[in-house]
Amino acid sequence: MRYSKLFIPTLRDDPADAEVISHKLLLRAGYIRRVTSGVYDYLPMGLRVLRKIEAVVREELTRAGAQELLMPMVQPSELWEKSGRMEKYGPELLRFKDRHGHESCLGPTHEEVICDLVSRELRSYKQLPMNLYQIQTKFRDEIRPRFGLMRGREFIMKDAYSFHADDACLNAEYDNMFATYCRIFERFNLKFRPVEADGGTIGGNKTHEFHVLAESGEDLIAHCSGCDYAANVEKASSQRALQTFECSALQTVDTPHATSAEDVAALLSVPTSQLLKTLVYRVTGGENDGVIVAACVLGDDQLQEIKLIHALAADAVEMATDEEVSTVGGITGFIGPQGLNAMVLMDNSLIDATGLVAGANQKDVHVTGLDVSRDLKSVSFVDLRETRAGDSCEKCGSAIELSRGIEVGQVFALGTQYTESMEVMFQNQEGKRAVATMGCYGIGISRLMAAVVEQCNDDAGIVWPAELAPFQLGLISMGKSEEVLEASEAIYNQLLDAGIEVLWDERKERPGVKFKDAELLGLPMQLVIGDRGLKEGVVEMGWRKGERSEVALADAVNIVIDRLKPSGCTN
Ligand code: ATP
Ligand code: MG
Repeated sequence: MRYSKLFIPTLRDDPADAEVISHKLLLRAGYIRRVTSGVYDYLPMGLRVLRKIEAVVREELTRAGAQELLMPMVQPSELWEKSGRMEKYGPELLRFKDRHGHESCLGPTHEEVICDLVSRELRSYKQLPMNLYQIQTKFRDEIRPRFGLMRGREFIMKDAYSFHADDACLNAEYDNMFATYCRIFERFNLKFRPVEADGGTIGGNKTHEFHVLAESGEDLIAHCSGCDYAANVEKASSQRALQTFECSALQTVDTPHATSAEDVAALLSVPTSQLLKTLVYRVTGGENDGVIVAACVLGDDQLQEIKLIHALAADAVEMATDEEVSTVGGITGFIGPQGLNAMVLMDNSLIDATGLVAGANQKDVHVTGLDVSRDLKSVSFVDLRETRAGDSCEKCGSAIELSRGIEVGQVFALGTQYTESMEVMFQNQEGKRAVATMGCYGIGISRLMAAVVEQCNDDAGIVWPAELAPFQLGLISMGKSEEVLEASEAIYNQLLDAGIEVLWDERKERPGVKFKDAELLGLPMQLVIGDRGLKEGVVEMGWRKGERSEVALADAVNIVIDRLKPSGCTN
């Protein structure tokens, strides 16, 4: 492709509203443009990268035995009513009515549609297992779309769904997909990590996320320094030291205006780890719908709400209002578990803790000397605290470390969660009707494009891994002489004939501008043809991030072909 013919609207400066490096560089280098909040145009260069990502994903999924299909973006709401997710999914599911008044939604994921399809076609165990996937546009009405392609409302996902006659077969496919994901991210040359994860609104009993490690990542990952344990902090469990302080009788103490753990600790000259923090929530969904719950962790810990939601088998929890707190006998800022007329859940780290300071459920008053097993009856202990760096690993006791990650994929062993409600049935080997068991596997194709740039960049611009670059080679003509353009065109055509993807910068721009643009765009290899070199019969060859050397003009094409394996893409 000739540069002057290609739509690459580069920007000289960083766009003001772009916070992370991938968003800045993809805008500056003319790969994407924003249409509206969380919705983007993929310009020609951006689309080429997406196609490269998709090509690798397709190749690896085909190798793994999955088949591609394409489902619609518009989904009838009846299917979501049938699966029971219509209410559960919440406002991220964009719902609308067509002219006939039929309720539909824009697909944020496709469990319902695929189950509906398979339930109508599946007859016998002989058709199983099968794994069907698509690469398709999703819509999730995210509350805060941000960071460019990282958290869009409209985005591209690869989603695969497998169906099996039994759980052993599902587990084998789960392992197959897990290994396939590792191969895909390795081919992209990414530093990534699979971690144990929470099922979110998709659900399932076994699930792993794949995270690209980057400071800008929205997720926090806990991993052990001594063994292979790694989990999203939404799910990670770990141990902290038992907090036992000298403990006398339970006493009240005046703490005027001290409502935060830090204020109370400072006032009483105790560490925040001696405080017991009580948070009051209203539960939505499940058996405890509408119930007010008090959840306790130590003063220097954070409560992980996702763990609380799971402990309650709820859909969501919301902080109780001051009025709701008072209906259970508490006062916001001075709440303690003693005597509260609410369900009390305590973090496991509080079992046998002694000498703690807690709210007294009276204004401006706390209690000291709280002995959890002596003073608190009918409380339940569960894992509620968020794992912190320096905790001990539950598997091996070594120190836990934390890193930030960008979730680029997730695999789920769903079991019969959807197949039961959606009636995906088949006749088993014994001739009986049975419910199929299911897995699902997603990769964020458009998020991956941003995640790659987060890891692969320098001060000058993007540095694409070879498999993902929009073009394999940037051919740059320096100088305006006819000889340079003629020699460049000859090389350009020979490279095209050899199947190399070349972006030929034949513009009438100054060398500085051309070099800057080439760096910004991030093509892996460059070939520079200039007047001076041409007279001596040489051209300059270089890598985006590496050495440059002169090679004979006559050898240049063969050397390039030798160094760049043709990707098979046409120009
Ligand atoms: P997140 O926790 O980041 O909201 P998720 O766990 O809800 O994501 P999944 O349902 O697991 O997402 O979807 C599969 C993949 O789709 C994710 O691993 C991610 O790479 C991608 N993805 C999800 N939401 C978005 C989004 N808003 N924008 C871009 N990609 C997304
Ligand atoms: Mg996920």
